[in-house]
Amino acid sequence: MAWDFSTEPEFEKQLQWMREFVRDEIYPLEVLEADDGSFMRIVRTLQKEVKERKLWATHLPPELGGQGFGQVKLGLIHEILGASVWAPTVFGNQAPDSGNSEILANFGTSRQKELWLHPLLEGKLRSGFSMTEPHNAGSDPVDLSTTAELRGDEWVINGHKWFTSNGMIADFLIVMAATEPDAGPYERASMIIVPTDTPGLKRLRNIPTMAGEHERFGYGHAEILYEDVRVPKENLLGERGKGFLIAQHRLGPGRIHHCMRWLGQARRAFDMLCERALQRRAFGGPLADKQTVQNWIADSAAEMQAARLMTLHAAWVIDREGAPAARKEISLIKFFGARVLHDVIDRALQLHGSLGYSSDLPLEEMYRHARAARMYDGPDEVHRQSVARYILRDYKAPKGPWPREHVPTRREAARRKFAAMLETMTADV
Ligand SMILES: Cc1cc2nc3c(=O)[nH]c(=O)nc-3n(C[C@H](O)[C@H](O)[C@H](O)COP(=O)(O)OP(=O)(O)OC[C@H]3O[C@@H](n4cnc5c(N)ncnc54)[C@H](O)[C@@H]3O)c2cc1C
Repeated sequence: MAWDFSTEPEFEKQLQWMREFVRDEIYPLEVLEADDGSFMRIVRTLQKEVKERKLWATHLPPELGGQGFGQVKLGLIHEILGASVWAPTVFGNQAPDSGNSEILANFGTSRQKELWLHPLLEGKLRSGFSMTEPHNAGSDPVDLSTTAELRGDEWVINGHKWFTSNGMIADFLIVMAATEPDAGPYERASMIIVPTDTPGLKRLRNIPTMAGEHERFGYGHAEILYEDVRVPKENLLGERGKGFLIAQHRLGPGRIHHCMRWLGQARRAFDMLCERALQRRAFGGPLADKQTVQNWIADSAAEMQAARLMTLHAAWVIDREGAPAARKEISLIKFFGARVLHDVIDRALQLHGSLGYSSDLPLEEMYRHARAARMYDGPDEVHRQSVARYILRDYKAPKGPWPREHVPTRREAARRKFAAMLETMTADV
């Protein structure tokens, strides 16, 4: 029997340190009114402490400074970091740099690692992942219009992308482009590293979104034109036509980390829900005494527990059998986790009334971010579709016109099966 929900005591000590560090050192950053320079100085001091604790960029393999933690341990770490928007930056695993560093670590050549990965890890460069296009369905990206043609020693890239997170401030982008027009749908695209100062790369704008990130943090999601952008052929990442395979590698564990981060956010909203329920009084008593509020608390606790166990289970399957074996589990938690995040924040916001709707509390901002979770890394509907397809593979249609459990048909079969016995029993009577 190997089912075990406990955490190794040594690792639990590290998690405890992280919880306290995030609460005492990182939460206060969220409300600090400092200029960029002073802010980054504080962040760098905190990063130094994280590195000394050997908790920097833990998602990477040990040879690059990670700890070789499996996905279960990484999941538990991300649950803590997800509670604050700044914690991933302080711990060296903020998206999209973390996913990009992972693919560079796993698929990059030694030259690519030297040029892009090491400076990225040292915080000297920023990156973006440029796949989604305005005129093709991002939920089914096999029809990418962006092309990369090998002419001599150079890739020549043409296309129109949008929602490239970090795009306006990135030093380089990993671009998904069709390089094999005649191949099957999943073998058409490749990944190519493109420095953002390459001629022909035009960063049009940060797309204004309901999250308003571009205003507050300067990063946001960029619309980018690639017009005869030329990069050396050595900038191909991995093999030609393997873009989707590599993307899968990036997105599988990445979704676990997202889901665990969402749980950290949901937990924070839940704490606010419970505290306010005890603090605020209406109709002769605290809100905590109203049954609707009790239902919100109980439902949120149950949903968060379910999402947590499902996510850790998916992480466990990845650790034992690899990411491809966990596809169904990953899709399950992607849409389920996004809904739990949304619903818990929504209840907490509602309970705080107009205060919850105001920017005097972080809930309205958390809510705006939570809405996007139902879209990025694959919309809910696509993950539901995948889950249903995986499940249906294990079933086949019953023969004949009736469902397998049709009682009259089963009764008739049972009579035939036990006819001899029934006859003996009748004779005995
Ligand atoms: C905050 C944020 C950050 C992002 N960051 C990046 C990034 O860094 N790089 C990048 O390349 N992209 C990024 N994206 C883009 C994101 O990956 C896409 O928005 C997503 O894949 C959906 O693609 P789409 O917007 O083209 O929607 P479409 O593909 O046009 O889908 C629209 C809607 O159709 C419905 N739908 C689609 N398929 C089905 C189906 N099979 N069954 C039922 N309904 C369906 C869904 O409701 C879906 O929301 C980001 C998006 C957001 C919101």
